[in-house]
Amino acid sequence: MQHQSHDTLGLIVLDGDDISCGVSTSGMPNKHPGRVGDSALPGNGLYADVTGGAACCSGDGDFILKFCPAFHVVQLLKQGKEPKEACKIVISDMKNRSSDYFEISIIAVNMKGEYGTGTTVESWKDPLEKDKTYNGFPYVVWTSGMDEPVCLCQETST
Ligand code: ASP
Repeated sequence: MQHQSHDTLGLIVLDGDDISCGVSTSGMPNKHPGRVGDSALPGNGLYADVTGGAACCSGDGDFILKFCPAFHVVQLLKQGKEPKEACKIVISDMKNRSSDYFEISIIAVNMKGEYGTGTTVESWKDPLEKDKTYNGFPYVVWTSGMDEPVCLCQETST
């Protein structure tokens, strides 16, 4: 299923022993006035903890709110799971507890600077480049030693 036209942006920054994250979003299309989505709520759209790492989520916020996925990912990082594996476990857990299709994409970074992502989104059309469709969801990585950021793509986790 193609990603709806979300514009959410999650950012994780690791600087030595410090980690932080932020999420910017316009929310869901046709949302009720005053709605507070997952993006602004720690544990749901974002979470950071220097003893584990950080995670940011994008997708169906009203659904995401039921699962605290960012918190869950960081708890798994604390237990030593690699970021990609942590994202996969959390998405599998959400799928096991719901029969409906839902959109979620997760980015995660641990305190070693390892990163990983997971998604249920099969394709994403770039609203700024009308002809560009990603086979999954795009994310950008910029680590020390890299001259410039690179754009990568996470395919649907199965
Ligand atoms: N999660 C956001 C919200 O529900 C939307 C998005 O990620 O695009 O407000």
